[in-house]
Amino acid sequence: MVKICCIGAGYVGGPTMAVIAIKCPAIEVVVVDISKPRIDAWNSDTLPIYEPGLDDVVKACRGKNLFFSTDVEKHVAEADIIFVSVNTPTKTRGLGAGKAADLTYWESAARMIADVSKSDKIVVEKSTVPVKTAEAIEKILTHNSKGINYQILSNPEFLKEVYAHWVPEENIITTNLWSAELSKLAANAFLAQRISSVNAMSALCEATGANVSEVSYAIGKDSRIGPKFLNASVGFGGSCFQKDILNLVYICECNGLPEVANYWKQVIKINDYQKSRFVNRVVSSMFNTVSGKKIAVLGFAFKKDTGDTRETPAIDVCKGLVGDKAQVSIYDPQVTEDQIQRDLAMNKFDWDHPMHLQPTSPTAVKQVSVVWDAYEAAKGAHGVCILTEWDEFKKLDYQKIFDNMQKPAFVFDGRNVVDAEKLREIGFIVYSIGKPLDG
Ligand code: NAD
Repeated sequence: MVKICCIGAGYVGGPTMAVIAIKCPAIEVVVVDISKPRIDAWNSDTLPIYEPGLDDVVKACRGKNLFFSTDVEKHVAEADIIFVSVNTPTKTRGLGAGKAADLTYWESAARMIADVSKSDKIVVEKSTVPVKTAEAIEKILTHNSKGINYQILSNPEFLKEVYAHWVPEENIITTNLWSAELSKLAANAFLAQRISSVNAMSALCEATGANVSEVSYAIGKDSRIGPKFLNASVGFGGSCFQKDILNLVYICECNGLPEVANYWKQVIKINDYQKSRFVNRVVSSMFNTVSGKKIAVLGFAFKKDTGDTRETPAIDVCKGLVGDKAQVSIYDPQVTEDQIQRDLAMNKFDWDHPMHLQPTSPTAVKQVSVVWDAYEAAKGAHGVCILTEWDEFKKLDYQKIFDNMQKPAFVFDGRNVVDAEKLREIGFIVYSIGKPLDG
């Protein structure tokens, strides 16, 4: 029986391995992590990650061919294939701080593999890493090899040896190692760039009376552009887009390509601009101050159907509102109060000035309350900000919300999910990203 061990039971490692386990019952899959609480959660009824369908998949194969363990060394030693899916955050200190990927976790995983291995291994880079990381990993493994043969693959999306069980052959792309490593960074950079492009267009739409949805629809009809990923929003988030672009910027700079680096930096700058533009719009619409006003925030996760809040635009928006002395009441169906308070207490890293962390006033977070119902969040509020495109926000009883709000009652739709016309008929003043204020 082929044995797979995945180092790192996070957002990538856990779900990816669960899918491999259910698709390949003849393979034993063990997901290991140094974090005991994380492993305990994977072994409990309440998984550490919310993804639609994930509970069913995990529960169907856990204890059969899918296992979660903190016994990292034992399972690495026994595995034929090792996926390394550890975190690769942006470095916060030293050379490349604020841009380069921090490969500390990666390196320690590689050293541990070299220490405990007694048989040949296929080592798969599942984490997103800078191009040429495999060269560094190979050095660590072969210099400590004790005659063991290591094959190193980069698998940002699919691994042929395993995925051939269920992925059609024509969908499996084989490239050289450096192309594979760079492809992941390039894919995230292109996706983020597309969002920044449409968001930049949304600002121009607002300034000129054009409607970004109409512009997106029109350009999406051109098959060279295509209709996907053209929704204007309050900005992109998630653990990867910003981190991977910063990494790309750093790699460009290290390779003597400052103009290329500046090009990609602009994608992040537009994203930051979009978030601050949203906050400015909220404040300016509400008579230039939100001091002492209650603002309901609906949605905190960086996208719908997840509890993941890493780099979510909601953090910056809430901090902006709190900075203007608003009382912020937050509701998200999947994000806990602890998580929200922790996110808001964290300092934002200033990547242009890596040595200067922006301070957060410890009292600021006290202006934030987290509630478990959208109606409760909006009760007595002056304005509602929609920051995540959860389906349930489309179906809320907005008449009920309106009746319980201060007047004039504002809705700031950061995801363009509500029917602005209907809300205006109820009596709301509605701001939708990239659309004329009168509809
Ligand atoms: P994560 O932080 O959720 O999980 C990483 C896990 O690795 C943590 O639980 C940590 O405890 C564990 N870990 C670190 N060092 C370890 C070690 N030496 N031994 C055992 N466990 C160790 O991160 P994630 O979101 O799963 O991302 C992992 C990688 O995949 C990153 O490089 C990320 O850029 C990339 N990626 C993430 C996504 C995403 O949607 N989250 C998508 C594509 C790629």
